[in-house]
Amino acid sequence: MKLLTGKRENKVFIGVLDSTETKVLSVNETDSMVECIAKGEEFLQDVKEKIEAASLEAYFLLDEVTLLSPITKPPKNILCVGKNYVDHAIEMGSKDDIPEHMMVFTKAPTTIIGPNEQIENHLSITNQLDYEGELAIVIGKKGRNIRKEDALDYVFGYTIVNDITARDLQAKHKQFFLGKSLDNSCPMGPFLVHKESLSNPNQLHIETKVNGEVRQSSNTKHFIFSVEEMIVTLSLGMTLEPGDVIATGTPAGVGKGFHPPRFLKPGDQIEITIEGIGTLTNHVSKEI
Ligand code: MG
Repeated sequence: MKLLTGKRENKVFIGVLDSTETKVLSVNETDSMVECIAKGEEFLQDVKEKIEAASLEAYFLLDEVTLLSPITKPPKNILCVGKNYVDHAIEMGSKDDIPEHMMVFTKAPTTIIGPNEQIENHLSITNQLDYEGELAIVIGKKGRNIRKEDALDYVFGYTIVNDITARDLQAKHKQFFLGKSLDNSCPMGPFLVHKESLSNPNQLHIETKVNGEVRQSSNTKHFIFSVEEMIVTLSLGMTLEPGDVIATGTPAGVGKGFHPPRFLKPGDQIEITIEGIGTLTNHVSKEI
């Protein structure tokens, strides 16, 4: 089941894709995705019933829909895991940078934009804007001190994020928060895939292209900390809530990893594809 937050004829709605992934059925026009997820099984049952009851005419074309970020307002900052692939940890420094304990930072919720929305270039603030293609976990139910064997029960589904980073601000301020929280620096989407539709989140191909050139190509099987381990560590003494988003880290091939670095420029197109989810495409704004 692939869900989306969309806008059509000026109305925002929660939709579900048909099997051809060209048509959409609206399943909720009053609640946000976070509110829908919080309803738990009741929401899933409702979607299934609406699919069964819908006539062909009830579906409209995906092309007629403006996709928004599947989660527009998570309950807390976006939780981000850093250096979760060995090859990326090394490109950012050396073997000494491979974390022994999970590295965590956050992005402000005001960073979130949808597919095809423009990433602001922030030229007056940074000249080291970088991309990071990542699998994102969306939490489905409230939990604290979650055990590894139960961790996937707390997942609703998965989407894609681009953890856009101002490398100069990230380094200058020591703490990552400012360099990770510029407005429009968290493209998310295009779809939120329910966990039942992805057999193993720890084995998904992930690829990032910039202007059509492959920059990152890896697989979540190379995670240092698995999806389950991330949930265990993040929920230690801290309550995870429905709609919380966990960005799981990026593989090697970010702009900073090249010699010389290849940071983003106004007008650049970034496409992130994850097996079973889809492709998230955004451009960097051209305005000076
Ligand atoms: Mg990241």
